[in-house]
Amino acid sequence: MSSEDPVHTIAELIDWPKEGKWLAVLGHPIAHSISPAMHNAALTCIQKIDTRFADWRYVRFDVPPPELPLALKRLLEAGFLGLNLTAPHKVLALTEVVHIDEAARPIGAVNTLKAGTQGWEGFNTDGQGMAAGILSDLGLSLKGATVVLLGAGGAARGAAVECLQQGVSALWIANRTQSNLETLLRDLSPLCPSSCVLKGFSPQTPPPELPKGAILINATSSGLKQGDALPIEIAALPRPSAVYDMIYNPPCTPLLQAAKELGIPCSNGLSMLVNQGAKALAHWTGLDSRQLAPAMDSAARQAMRQ
Ligand code: NDP
Repeated sequence: MSSEDPVHTIAELIDWPKEGKWLAVLGHPIAHSISPAMHNAALTCIQKIDTRFADWRYVRFDVPPPELPLALKRLLEAGFLGLNLTAPHKVLALTEVVHIDEAARPIGAVNTLKAGTQGWEGFNTDGQGMAAGILSDLGLSLKGATVVLLGAGGAARGAAVECLQQGVSALWIANRTQSNLETLLRDLSPLCPSSCVLKGFSPQTPPPELPKGAILINATSSGLKQGDALPIEIAALPRPSAVYDMIYNPPCTPLLQAAKELGIPCSNGLSMLVNQGAKALAHWTGLDSRQLAPAMDSAARQAMRQ
């Protein structure tokens, strides 16, 4: 990240420069985030054709969890138009918003805030970003698909809700900790139409009735660190049609390596990051996310190479 792109703190908000329209990402830590590079690339692109966005700029703030309420208050007062939230703020912010988008409510987390007249309004674009990423990278739609989802944390929750909202025909979920899996299944059950199969299983013992040709999605953090084990033994599953790993750094996880060795089409989660960002920027600008995604994609790929 360049020196022109500093990490800000909430202390700076007391005399934040008023000129310009500001957007930001909040996280802790945040120095690794490539969201400023992605969003500023898209803004540069649209500024050439639309003067309404001439003075828009996207920055990043390091906000420790206890400081989140004060940060959100000061950002609203300073006139910020929109925010992205990353770990650990997605759930913490729920109590700080005045309105939660209907589609985000069952996820129980928000990754996008928009300044409204009464306060921050919350949205969640992670699941939509994942669906758009699977479509763009693998050419697969979730509608009518069978999905095997690994994980029961925040990202898995967004993915599962999106799968059900898009009308998958079956959703099988595996997670290391059984109690977390049961909580997720219980929360998803009211969203699941009777025509859709919703089942859980242990990644250690995949059931024989798992269907062939599923889209296998990794929403666990297994694969983030060097030496991590596979979140599931792909060869022990009925052959999936494709594998999507939400992890994008490292770009090739053990799961993706195993898929490549088996000749199964696969992709990492960079396209999810890009598309969740494009959908967030679409909320703030009113533009179509498909118009914003290409510049964000190029910037994300360039940032990953640095
Ligand atoms: P959470 O901490 O909320 O959930 C972590 C999940 O991973 C849990 O299901 C946990 O299982 C499981 N897990 C952790 N370690 C292991 C392990 N060693 N073996 C098997 N399972 C494990 O994290 P998030 O849901 O926020 O994030 C999950 C992943 O998704 C991360 O890798 C993150 O980087 C990625 N992500 C990518 C995004 C993108 O834009 N591409 C956006 C958001 C997330 P258990 O219940 O047993 O603890």
